[in-house]
Amino acid sequence: MKKYRRLCALLIISMIILCVLHYSGDLQFLYKAFFIPKHWISSDTDVDGKTHSVSLGSFDPGSYLQPPSISDQKDPFLNHAFNVLKSNDIPFDRPLPDSRNKRCKARPFTDLPATSVIIAYYNEARSTLLRTVVSVLRRTPPELIKEILLIDDFSDDAEVGRLLPEIPKVQVYRNKKREGLIRSRVRGAGLAESEVLTFLDSHCEVNVGWLEPLLYRIAESPKAVVCPILDVINTSTFDYIVAPQTPVVVGGFDWGLNFKWEPPPQSMVFRPEDPRKTAVMAGGVFSISRSWFNKLGKYDTGMDIWGGENFELSFKVWMCGGQVEIVPCSRVGHVFRKRHPYEFPDGDTNTVIRNSRRVAEVWMDEYKKYFYKKKPSARMKPFGRISNRKKLRNQLQCRSFAWYINNVYPALKPPVSDEVMYGRLKQGDLCLDVDTGHVPIITILRPCDTDRASQEWSWKKRGDITNNGLCLTANPETTHSYILAKFCSQDESQIWMERKSQIVHNLTGQCVDARKPDIGLVLAECDPNNTQQKWILPVKNHLHSRDL
Ligand code: UDP
Ligand code: MN
Repeated sequence: MKKYRRLCALLIISMIILCVLHYSGDLQFLYKAFFIPKHWISSDTDVDGKTHSVSLGSFDPGSYLQPPSISDQKDPFLNHAFNVLKSNDIPFDRPLPDSRNKRCKARPFTDLPATSVIIAYYNEARSTLLRTVVSVLRRTPPELIKEILLIDDFSDDAEVGRLLPEIPKVQVYRNKKREGLIRSRVRGAGLAESEVLTFLDSHCEVNVGWLEPLLYRIAESPKAVVCPILDVINTSTFDYIVAPQTPVVVGGFDWGLNFKWEPPPQSMVFRPEDPRKTAVMAGGVFSISRSWFNKLGKYDTGMDIWGGENFELSFKVWMCGGQVEIVPCSRVGHVFRKRHPYEFPDGDTNTVIRNSRRVAEVWMDEYKKYFYKKKPSARMKPFGRISNRKKLRNQLQCRSFAWYINNVYPALKPPVSDEVMYGRLKQGDLCLDVDTGHVPIITILRPCDTDRASQEWSWKKRGDITNNGLCLTANPETTHSYILAKFCSQDESQIWMERKSQIVHNLTGQCVDARKPDIGLVLAECDPNNTQQKWILPVKNHLHSRDL
């Protein structure tokens, strides 16, 4: 009897030990060796830092990961713009070097909100996609991940979407047609149930402790939109290359809305664990409060495939009362590719310019002229309706782009220019415009319309008033005193001066007059009392202010 009791006690104690080992994850080697080898991922620690043990449920990586196709074997870069053979060779649960600054490791994080992870993918390689998902499960405390929502953007291989949901927490939604990453992410956001949304690309590997500092910052400052430092996963070798800790680069751009990394302003002094303000985010990887994302009107779903959405979101976050930050304690590896491996139905240049143009038109106010200067072809690209996006901006009462440039990104200087004024030349609610239905092109007054680029005039230091390569031109003989829009020629007939709200023609000393507003603007003797010669002109450009 005594012996039996001792046996019982021994049994209970060993059960307790087994339970503890199970939950701490240290028993996975046993599971792996004996009963369910395929369905558990071991809790091997990373090079520095512990990972979480993960059940893959009924998911079988062996049958999911397929042998490479013939075209992949011929050219492993062809289909994905990275070495897919190498990716296939690397374990889907590989350990990573912990790339954080050591001060990050000591920080305890408590009371964090949970997040929904959203990953849009289009024709992603199975191995990289699985590694993305597994890295999230391995390196995130389970209670912080509500769900992993994969949006299959109508990839050729629909099977991926049928197999992956066998992994606990993973859900796959397949688009009925190719939508592009912007509308796909918006779809994911609409399905998400957690307070915080975390977006990832489909070829990432999250590093130790990646999520906690992001969530911590959002809990502290709900309008902060936070990005990790992106480490580089090499496209050929798949080596995980740790981004240098100093200086931590931040996001910037040029007037053509091309993203670039740059060192933060020198005046800023940071502790290694402090968030850094960034003018824009790179795009693929960030966390945002769900209600803040919704309030900001999500992304502009009028944008297609890829590009520009990082600017749209960053500009509106800053201009509408939030901030975009890089949180250096959070590290995520991303495969940075040199080209898009997928087709754009409308061509990549067209699509990106169209998306960028929507951003410029809605958010950049008078600074959009610098965008057009850098990308002249953008003026010709139709860009769809933007009235709802403009309405959104009004409703949110967002600040101006001038405020953004002055306060958030003063390093971006307006291009050196000989422009003295830019904007509309108005009489009441009517604006100087061109009537392209005529040859030669005449100038007229039309109701002011912020969507009409032909109402935006640039008055140069030399005196020419130009729009889209055309200059206001008048000559008593050749134009019969009509004011026409002709190709700029450096000719005297194209030189104008401002005098007490009048636009005076240098050659004749006469004034621009709207006495026949429908037929066309004409030159007439200047009369200070004539309201048809009085113009409301844009404010002078103080940055390069020179008198006309
Ligand atoms: N993507 C998508 N639909 C598309 C294009 C891209 O869902 O039409 C996904 C893609 O699979 C990736 C993410 O959007 O997960 C970002 O695309 P990509 O990695 O090509 O952009 P990059 O990192 O080069 O900026
Ligand atoms: Mn990517």
